Amino acid sequence: MDTTRTEIASLGEFGLIEHLTKNNETRNAGTLLSVGDDAAVIDQFGRQSVISTDLLLEGIHFDLMYTPLKHLGYKAVAVNLSDIYAMMATPTHITLSLGISNKFSVEALDEFYEGVYAACEEFDVDLIGGDTTSSKIGFVISVTAVGEVAPDKYVTRSGAKVNDLICVSGDLGAAYLGLQLLEREKKIFLENPGIQPDLENQKYAVGRMLKPAPRADIKEWLEKAGITPTSMIDVSDGLSSELLHICTASDTGCILYEEKIPIHDDARKLAMEFQVGAVACALSGGEDYELLFTIKQEDYEKTARNNDISIIGYITEKTEGTNLLTKGGNKHKLTAQGWNAFHG
Ligand code: ADP
Ligand code: MG
Repeated sequence: MDTTRTEIASLGEFGLIEHLTKNNETRNAGTLLSVGDDAAVIDQFGRQSVISTDLLLEGIHFDLMYTPLKHLGYKAVAVNLSDIYAMMATPTHITLSLGISNKFSVEALDEFYEGVYAACEEFDVDLIGGDTTSSKIGFVISVTAVGEVAPDKYVTRSGAKVNDLICVSGDLGAAYLGLQLLEREKKIFLENPGIQPDLENQKYAVGRMLKPAPRADIKEWLEKAGITPTSMIDVSDGLSSELLHICTASDTGCILYEEKIPIHDDARKLAMEFQVGAVACALSGGEDYELLFTIKQEDYEKTARNNDISIIGYITEKTEGTNLLTKGGNKHKLTAQGWNAFHG
């Protein structure tokens, strides 16, 4: 008998997915894109749909002590839509499945659904089904999102070419710092229940954590501007991890300029308070749900005009490696220290 036992932690999240799916066969001609991107793409008689799914577990992905249920409902939908936009597709439908612990009341679930419906309305998607069951391990949320895209217009992680420019929307690192803040306040509260946390001055970072906005606007702007990104991914695990996904899938290297990484002033202040590097939070924090993408050089001028998009580096040959160029002019190898549910 083979008694080999391999610890999951030795593979990591992405290694595990690769291990489990390396022998996965696709049998249908309509399966255009399978495991390995933000969403899968299937072709049904000439119409193409993108599909993505996410699982959120209480205690792993969210803490109900400081997560308002309405925000949680909104976020559960939002993070899935982010994966659809990251394909340059338009979300149209979601299903929502819940594992509900007996500590929940109907009123609590109503609140959760208020957030779900708010996201559906804002992003014009229909909730079309799901599943409901009881749970002994806390609140479990699974959302599947479906979207549509014009034939072969979807953008994968694998299309980046040498000399393409690396772009990212919005700013990075604030969500992670918002989480650190909420965790700190939780600890203080548990030690001194009389003290109410004062988060008034930290609305930005806390908002980024609790109510992330998927970048439908960026996807639409790119379309209107006539810019087709060569590759795209959403930033759920941190900039370095996502950029490495693009480079691995595209078989390229990259140069990322530290000084170009967009970081909000509030995030910088918070990083100082926590005595962590703001850049490190952007690289490894995660949950920003911004769009990271590459464009051809010829699209530089148009893109540079959008103040909500930063051009942060460029794609190189694979042999040049994946590099972060610091403000001081030093080159560091970019490593994936992305937030990982198996370590979290
Ligand atoms: P994202 O962060 O964009 O949601 P993930 O890192 O969760 O993407 O997943 C990467 C890829 O692996 C996706 O294509 C996803 O569908 C696939 N995947 C994740 N878990 C599994 C699994 N257990 N079995 C098959 N495919 C999976
Ligand atoms: Mg994604």
